[in-house]
Amino acid sequence: MIRYIIGIVISLIAVSFIRAVVGMIQKSVKENVEDVLRDDTPKSNPAEPATAATLKRCVTCGTYKPEASMTRYGTGTKSVFFCSAACEKKAAS
Ligand SMILES: [Zn+2]
Repeated sequence: MIRYIIGIVISLIAVSFIRAVVGMIQKSVKENVEDVLRDDTPKSNPAEPATAATLKRCVTCGTYKPEASMTRYGTGTKSVFFCSAACEKKAAS
């Protein structure tokens, strides 16, 4: 009789322990998924990479290069870009 009761108690403890573990796993998985979804939204910002890789035309030779790697003269829409020091010299002469 005592063995029977001990068996029930152990199985009850085991069931509650398994439920607790499963609940923790489900909770952590849910939180991880929510974190991934939350992290993804600010990363998908299309405006920033587009401006960083803007291509500009060299006024001397007509080569298109990223704006950051070119020599710039002037500001705004009046800007003039040179791809190299050689093209800069050609335009000056
Ligand atoms: Zn050039």
